[in-house]
Amino acid sequence: MPPITEVAGRRLALRNLDKVIHPATGTTKGELLHYVAQAAGALLPHLRDRPLAFLRYPDGPDGQTFFTKNPPAGMPSWVATAEVPRSSGASRQVLVQDLPALMWAANLVVEFHAPMWRAGDGRGTADRLVFDLDPGSPATAVDCCTVARWLRERLRADGLEAYAKTSGSKGLHLLVPLRPTPSRQTTAYARGLAVEAAAALPGLVVHKMTRSLRPGKVLVDYSQNAAAKTTVAPYSPRARREPSVSTPVTWAEVEGCRGPEQLAFRIEDVPARLARHGDLLAPLCDPDHAHALPPGAGG
Ligand code: ATP
Ligand code: MN
Repeated sequence: MPPITEVAGRRLALRNLDKVIHPATGTTKGELLHYVAQAAGALLPHLRDRPLAFLRYPDGPDGQTFFTKNPPAGMPSWVATAEVPRSSGASRQVLVQDLPALMWAANLVVEFHAPMWRAGDGRGTADRLVFDLDPGSPATAVDCCTVARWLRERLRADGLEAYAKTSGSKGLHLLVPLRPTPSRQTTAYARGLAVEAAAALPGLVVHKMTRSLRPGKVLVDYSQNAAAKTTVAPYSPRARREPSVSTPVTWAEVEGCRGPEQLAFRIEDVPARLARHGDLLAPLCDPDHAHALPPGAGG
């Protein structure tokens, strides 16, 4: 019998707690679930009302992985869902609205991926802008930081404030809180800034997806602003050999980054960072910090 746990009145069967999920460190599923419970206060607001996609990696990153928007089999009836129009017809996607749903999903060993819009605003009405900065080897997160600083200043010139997090893998993600704006406009605006960044930092930035253009450069990927796309959520664990986490970072850390290892945070680092900084991305969930795109932008 798996151990039955009660989370806020919901019964959960947490399974295989001794299974090693991250082979580089021997991190077990139990340790991973403990991390998710500790980070829940910061993680939940970033998932709330967003139809989620999951990367499942039940046997760790060396096993089979599945990226899916479909509710996992056996989902309890008390987990919320939203009806989402998709190209394949309308379908239901999971909403993680509370701690029991979070722990139920985490028990399946998942990365949490979210769109830039909330179900209540409607599919494709974005409340965030995202830039995914992908370093092409030998470029690293250090080069992503240089590009992030340029984008931050450029966004400020348009009255917008950017917040940074690591991807938990190789790159950096920049997020900007917005008043609800059609995804087509946010995508067009972000594309414009990616093109400007490539012109301003020609040795460092590319905005086209072509792999051959990328060695030593940073791809400014704006495509995740599209309604159908997702980006890994802040504080989500990643399916990597070490238990890395997509971790919010301060601008001082971005400015001071001299090596990619300085921004390689793991599950054991996050609780102390939350105690020190709180949620550095809290402004993304605060309507008072949401601004409109500049007039005419992305039109
Ligand atoms: P890295 O720093 O290695 O780039 P990342 O999370 O930014 O990490 P990307 O490959 O750049 O990874 O992908 C960006 C986002 O696209 C992911 O965070 C995820 O939400 C989404 N994504 C990743 N894999 C898939 C997939 N197989 N299908 C659909 N969307 C995906
Ligand atoms: Mn990326």
